[in-house]
Amino acid sequence: MNTAIIVGGGIGGLAAALALHRTGWQVQVLERAPEFTVAGAGLSLWPNALRALDALGLAAPVRHRSVLEGQAGIRDPKGRWLSRSDTAGIERRYGPTAMIHRADLLDLLRSALPAAALRSGTTVHHAQADGTVHHSDGTGRADLLVGADGIHSTVRASLWGKGIVPRYAGYTAWRMITGPVPVRESSETWGRGERFGYAPLPDGRVYCFAVANAPRGATDPGLAGLRHRFATWHDPIPTLLTAATPETVLHHDLYELPPLPAYVKGRVALVGDAAHAMTPNLGQGACQALEDAVVLARAVRGDGALIAYDHQRRPRTQMIAARARRIGTIAQWSSPAAVALRNAALRCAPGAAFTRSLAPVLNWTG
Ligand SMILES: Cc1cc2nc3c(=O)[nH]c(=O)nc-3n(C[C@H](O)[C@H](O)[C@H](O)COP(=O)(O)OP(=O)(O)OC[C@H]3O[C@@H](n4cnc5c(N)ncnc54)[C@H](O)[C@@H]3O)c2cc1C
Repeated sequence: MNTAIIVGGGIGGLAAALALHRTGWQVQVLERAPEFTVAGAGLSLWPNALRALDALGLAAPVRHRSVLEGQAGIRDPKGRWLSRSDTAGIERRYGPTAMIHRADLLDLLRSALPAAALRSGTTVHHAQADGTVHHSDGTGRADLLVGADGIHSTVRASLWGKGIVPRYAGYTAWRMITGPVPVRESSETWGRGERFGYAPLPDGRVYCFAVANAPRGATDPGLAGLRHRFATWHDPIPTLLTAATPETVLHHDLYELPPLPAYVKGRVALVGDAAHAMTPNLGQGACQALEDAVVLARAVRGDGALIAYDHQRRPRTQMIAARARRIGTIAQWSSPAAVALRNAALRCAPGAAFTRSLAPVLNWTG
């Protein structure tokens, strides 16, 4: 039987383990955290991700634990619509988009794997191209080694060198889950150098995020700072911030990886953020990790041709990362003149053109 060691038990690692397990591989996931649990917020799963989850046998349970997106769009801080997404058109053309709690997705991925395949509390220190890993409990070797250990990947540093350094995007983000607030639509509001977005979850709670231009490592003003910053923005933003509690707020500076020259080396493949960490402006990082998993398992099914995985995944994920970066740059503009121009352009842009422009991202079929 073919064997795989997967380093990292996030969405990318668990999905890769599941995809390989379903094709008859013996898998072992090494996760440094003491348990496979996660603090987390909401996650948008676009139609391409739901197709990948279908291939993993999880599309139905994921839909069951998600809210399928209804009305969506972009507004200005006074609440005026700048652009309304043609969600019906997107669904007709590409399929539904789901909003799920990250912990629920991880739970479904984990539950689909044999318990013996999951090894928490194990930190990988070094990886070799022949499939060997050195970790806190000893050494392991497998036919395939999957580096799914996130943006600061040890597997990548071992084999691609420490010169690949994540770049700070220039803005920082907060995520939180509020108590129940009656919200029907998903919405993102663009100000000057700052944004706020929200989407309902199935249990009535609401996933929110805020983004602001800031120097790297700037002091976090916390929930009180967010309430102050967005106090004059349209409803329900102040209400949502009142319904949030400090312990649910996650704060991270946003980084992305420069494009790698390859995602494979010897018996090693990188998936997810280890390969292509991108800014979250398209909500595609985890979606791409799910696609990676499906393509990787297909690529190694025959004669272990990892190169096919690299050829399929690198151009696509790097194109999506570049798009996400461009959207982030425009969304974070802060000069009044540039923002006025941007908002006018958004108001004029036809929804159907936006729907069509999503094709290269959403029309993935594997
Ligand atoms: C603000 C924000 C919002 C986002 N929103 C969305 C969204 O709506 N939709 C979407 O698709 N994506 C979104 N993303 C992106 C998404 O969160 C990531 O792309 C995705 O979680 C990456 O998963 P991963 O498994 O590759 O990496 P990670 O989630 O980073 O998992 C890596 C795992 O490896 C483990 N690990 C690390 N080093 C070691 C080691 N040496 N040994 C053993 N284990 C190790 C870690 O503990 C971790 O569990 C968002 C990201 C951010 C920051």
